[in-house]
Amino acid sequence: MVPTITLNDKTQIPQLGFGTYLIPPEQTADIVGQALQVGYRHVDTAQMYGNEEGVGRAIAASGIPREELYVTSKLANDKHRPDDVRRSFDETMARLGLERLDLFLMHWPLPTLYDGDYVSTWKAITDLVADGRLRTAGVSNFQPDHLDRIVAETGVVPAVNQIEAHPYFTNDTAREASRRHGVAVEAWSPLGQGAVLNDAKIAEIAADHGRSASQIVLRWHIQRGDIVFPKSMRRERMAENFALFDFSLTPQEVDAISSLDKGERGRVGPNPDTFDYLPD
Ligand code: NDP
Repeated sequence: MVPTITLNDKTQIPQLGFGTYLIPPEQTADIVGQALQVGYRHVDTAQMYGNEEGVGRAIAASGIPREELYVTSKLANDKHRPDDVRRSFDETMARLGLERLDLFLMHWPLPTLYDGDYVSTWKAITDLVADGRLRTAGVSNFQPDHLDRIVAETGVVPAVNQIEAHPYFTNDTAREASRRHGVAVEAWSPLGQGAVLNDAKIAEIAADHGRSASQIVLRWHIQRGDIVFPKSMRRERMAENFALFDFSLTPQEVDAISSLDKGERGRVGPNPDTFDYLPD
């Protein structure tokens, strides 16, 4: 049974979900359909992944009641102007085939683009909640100063901050800033895109528990209180990554895994302070 976390807007989110980055659009309906069969009820997609339509088809084909599912998407980097936020949100809803989205995130703050204005983008996302078609508004890749600024200038605190976090990049600075504001943390690339799975310390803890490295790492995230959505194209790995709630790590094991942190060197993704990618 996957636990839920109550967000600062009083809504609930399943702590474990399924990630869809790099799942090819033409395979997405099948792969997400398999994840739903395995038991996942929370799916994380994004406009820039190009696979929202496949997610929507998997949901429609699953027959699972809408209220049992939790669906997240994210604003593309070239859609930060408020009019584009509204238009692209409508397009996301059409692709997903949904009436209401559970969570919509600003994918990146892009502080070096749009004259540094991610505040009006944030405001436009929060307006979608007032319109009733979005349940919860959040951000992604927000550094402490980005969070401080949107909260100071709009008074609206995001419900979540989705940031890179895994044993080689524990990202405690952004996690602590999020917590300070009452923002739940979602850890993206929870397996470091596979980078942490051959670690000797993790292998040792895995052997002690008779579990896989992936399960140990995901359980570490769960016990840190973060929300995770590992991605896999393989059904047996989807099932493995879903079986996390019948064992636990000791506080010493949690600390030992946290101490694998390599700081900035451990990132597998870009630094949000300088990332300025715009889709074609
Ligand atoms: P993950 O950390 O989830 O790792 C995925 C990789 O690990 C894949 O290569 C997968 O291979 C492999 N893998 C998965 N499970 C296992 C297992 N049990 N044993 C061995 N290998 C395994 O990386 P992601 O980058 O996909 O992160 C997860 C999700 O986070 C994304 O899918 C996306 O939804 C979100 N995300 C958000 C970002 C943001 O900017 N907001 C940025 C990046 C990700 P295979 O598929 O072949 O099984």
